[in-house]
Amino acid sequence: MDETEIIEKQTILVEKITDADMVLVGIGEEFHEDFKEIHRFPNLMSALEEVDINETLEWAIPFLEHRFLIEHKDGSLEEAYKKLYELVKDKNYFVITTCIDEIIQRAPFDNERVVAPCGNYQMLQCSEKCCNTLYPSKDFSDLVNQAILDNVGLDSLEEPKCPVCGKSLVYSNILCEQNYVEEGYQKQWENYTKWLQGTLNKKLCILELGVELNLPNIIRWPFEKVAFYNQKASFFRINASLYQMTEELSGKGVSIAMNAVDFLREYTLSDRTETEGLS
Ligand SMILES: [Zn+2]
Repeated sequence: MDETEIIEKQTILVEKITDADMVLVGIGEEFHEDFKEIHRFPNLMSALEEVDINETLEWAIPFLEHRFLIEHKDGSLEEAYKKLYELVKDKNYFVITTCIDEIIQRAPFDNERVVAPCGNYQMLQCSEKCCNTLYPSKDFSDLVNQAILDNVGLDSLEEPKCPVCGKSLVYSNILCEQNYVEEGYQKQWENYTKWLQGTLNKKLCILELGVELNLPNIIRWPFEKVAFYNQKASFFRINASLYQMTEELSGKGVSIAMNAVDFLREYTLSDRTETEGLS
């Protein structure tokens, strides 16, 4: 897709958002943190080396990843979220994301308008799901951080255990697979469902950003359905590889064949205005 075509579609996108009563945003795989930059944190790297040598410490890896997410600032994802926020902030929006990394919270989105059904790193749960109890993760995360800072070794820590059955406690998110305790997001999911019901007969602009096919029943398929049934909907699918539009949506759908993170970073309204101002 050449630059002119992207700019044309970006212009349509901004027009549709401006004109919309409601904006539905779905965020998927292209936004998932890949932890590639973890090598920039020597403390975390030496902790990971300790795990390499002593595999009984493998339980600590997600806690180190969480630490990385807290400390890693100003990455490209953060920038993309801030641009996205600027696009939708004045609208009646709702964001659904399959990300568990919480980087979206670096932009000032209203938490009441974001749902993350795949969980995150806020709560711990029993790895065996002996019950549905959730425990805040902060205290233990702080202990891990202190051990890293003091350089006392991860083996100075005791793995957190379920107070009910004694099995490991793990972060409550989709990485628990079939044992994932889904209570954590249920209330917000209800709010999302109600909001969606309110989009009927409204001018709805749908942005599907970097959503692939690993979890198609969370965003990709439901969004297609919403777009199909809403006569006033416009639908933007932005994705480097899976940008094709279904035939049913060809009338109201716009495909942008580009990584959605890069698209947001490089083709926002303010950037364009600046560029035009210079030329
Ligand atoms: Zn348990």
